[in-house]
Amino acid sequence: MSVKIELTNYGIKRIRQGNPLIQEEDLKQSIKKIPLEWVEFVDNKHKYVATGYLGKQNKGFGWVIDQTRRGINQDFLAQKFQQAIQKRQVFFSDETTTAFRLFNGEGDGFGGMTIDYYADYLVISWYNQTIYHFQKMIVASLLQVFPTAKGLVEKIRFKSELLESRWLAGEKPEEPLIVMENGVSYAVYLDEGYMTGIFLDQKEVRGRLTEGLAAGKKVLNMFSYTGAFSVAAAYGGALETTSVDLAQRSLAKTQEQFEVNGLPLEQQKIIVMDTFDYFRYAGRKNLTYDVIILDPPSFARNKKKTFSVAKDYGRLIEDSVDILADDGLIIASTNAANLSIKKFKYAIETALQNKKVDYQLVESYRLPADFPASDFEESNYLKVLFYTVKK
Ligand code: SAH
Repeated sequence: MSVKIELTNYGIKRIRQGNPLIQEEDLKQSIKKIPLEWVEFVDNKHKYVATGYLGKQNKGFGWVIDQTRRGINQDFLAQKFQQAIQKRQVFFSDETTTAFRLFNGEGDGFGGMTIDYYADYLVISWYNQTIYHFQKMIVASLLQVFPTAKGLVEKIRFKSELLESRWLAGEKPEEPLIVMENGVSYAVYLDEGYMTGIFLDQKEVRGRLTEGLAAGKKVLNMFSYTGAFSVAAAYGGALETTSVDLAQRSLAKTQEQFEVNGLPLEQQKIIVMDTFDYFRYAGRKNLTYDVIILDPPSFARNKKKTFSVAKDYGRLIEDSVDILADDGLIIASTNAANLSIKKFKYAIETALQNKKVDYQLVESYRLPADFPASDFEESNYLKVLFYTVKK
């Protein structure tokens, strides 16, 4: 290994505390051209600290992969994949769940890529150019430990001229492909943009709805995307569901999710509208809901307005209280890595206090077991808090 990269003492301290993410300010020298190879991170005496790589992605500037000198090659990767598969035996042996995360980047010891399993197909997502440079070796190593994979699709999650999604090997997945989670079917499109139709990290929350948390209740699902929460709620006996999303595509995709489960559409409303417009509409029509699910993107732009979780979550909660039935439940979710659980809770509870309601935090979820996080706060990005509210 030739390239040595000197790190600041602060950067080294963070690495030794278990945080594998390299930040640009950890580097002693400025990097003009990112080396497309494994590098050796060293201290100010040029002594070995760790092996890893530099790569620009939406978070950070590179990853520590190993703190021994054994070197990164196909065998090293195969071992990581093997360990990840081993850890997920409960998911493989659960016949009611055929989609889950197989390899969670840094949480499985290799930052910069993730692999999802969808009914024998694999979807591999690349988060920076450097790791993508090693695509052939990584894929070869993956197929060596997972020879039964039916097909492979890749997603490009870094700035590039390349297509977001590409079928790479094996059989081309059917579109839609039907996968299962806790007995509920979901239609997914593995080779369409960088999203597939289901966010696998929400399985525990969908699981609660499937089990009957919303049985007999009226459910409002905001930012509903393909309606996965609505389908789980309807499957679990919800009286009716309303799914609201701005994207035109959400209508057909949500209908399809109900249909693949044989759930009648009469009790399911699917509305293409801005969330804040819908709050006003529901207020005017005196509509109320027993359960309101809020799962916005971290950041979005609609017409000239921008929505960001950090600035607007409180408003979502206040507007929800207005149309919540007495003794209702708010399921507040965010995947914003830069918003700590403490700040998220504070934003929600401040809003509830502004509305002068009694509330109680009754359940909370972070990333599920197939999404192991690394030992730094942003790595466990998902936060879902269930609040009961008495008006
Ligand atoms: N809750 C969903 C995932 C949400 S993804 C699930 O669990 O499957 C975010 C969704 O928010 C996208 O589908 C996007 O179209 C929608 N969205 C973004 N801004 C919006 C707005 N202002 N009003 C309604 N939907 C919005």
